[in-house]
Amino acid sequence: MSFSLPDFRRKWSCRGYMSAGAAMVTAALGLVLVPAGTAEARKHPAPVDLFNLGTPRPRAAAHAARIPLPRPRPAEAPKAQEKITDEASPEAEEKPPADQPAADKPAEAAPPQKQASACRLALTEDIAIAPSIPDIRGPGACGGEDLVRLEAVVLPDKRKVTVKPAAILRCPMASALADWLRKDMVPLAASLGSPISELDNFDSFECRGRNRVAGAMLSEHGKANAIDIRAIKLANGQSIGLTDRTTSREVRERVLHSVCARFSTVLGPGSDWYHEDHVHLDLAQRRNDYRICQWNVWDPLPQIAPLLPAERPEEAPPREVAAKPEAKESADEGGAETPPDPADKPATDGNKAPSHKPATKKRR
Ligand SMILES: [Zn+2]
Repeated sequence: MSFSLPDFRRKWSCRGYMSAGAAMVTAALGLVLVPAGTAEARKHPAPVDLFNLGTPRPRAAAHAARIPLPRPRPAEAPKAQEKITDEASPEAEEKPPADQPAADKPAEAAPPQKQASACRLALTEDIAIAPSIPDIRGPGACGGEDLVRLEAVVLPDKRKVTVKPAAILRCPMASALADWLRKDMVPLAASLGSPISELDNFDSFECRGRNRVAGAMLSEHGKANAIDIRAIKLANGQSIGLTDRTTSREVRERVLHSVCARFSTVLGPGSDWYHEDHVHLDLAQRRNDYRICQWNVWDPLPQIAPLLPAERPEEAPPREVAAKPEAKESADEGGAETPPDPADKPATDGNKAPSHKPATKKRR
């Protein structure tokens, strides 16, 4: 057979005015074909059925099931796109539209009837002013669940320590921070003669790589699991800079020991060049509960001299030590090719005032 029956049917079935002829032809063909091969006949429903001439059931059904063609695209093209996005994220469908406070976090979807975590239940208003906020999902691996906006920590005596600005943190991190302030920093502040009033939050949630290096591993800040602190302020106005060398060494060491006991990562001055002016705290989970505590409490005076010396004053006497080696070199070479620089003269000759200036310049 060089032609297929479906082709044949298609050719004829749509021509109503030729239906009589078509019926005749197809009936004849049907008679020839049906005995020829049942498999073939089953695959391609006999043309007889097309015209309801004693047809088997399946064929009628097949005919009734038209190939669905896409409807013409409605004028509201954007709406159609919205529908596709909704289908892609089934969670989004359940989300009430009112539950989207932050336009810059499109991926966030918080089922309102989510069970409160144990941490959330424990972090009452007696401990912290930390309202729950919707989960953050994305971009990338950023975000987290069970988030709070830590606005203040409530001390046992009901005083409040304002977190400035309020910190977006996972509940366990917020809880750890509150515990630290309430249990460790309250006695420290008491020893300084004034209660704590404010926590200087340098950075909390931020979707970024470690140390703001593009392409680096995701920082714990991107998981809302970290906070950077610069200072603790007391009610009397005093500010305790945690990395400030003028803050007493004893105070800074007490802070260091308390945070290293409570947080799994502590990075301060001396850890790398990114934490010289603040202390990073997080609750990163590592294998075998490995912890990092890197914070060098520097002495009040710099331990290492600055890399460049201070500008040499004009009135300074000539620098003999500096000039000597050059004088020696030129002496070794015989001084034939290059006459000794005038700068060297004063050094060897003594303290001639006019020549010390060039010598100073040459050393730079
Ligand atoms: Zn940090």
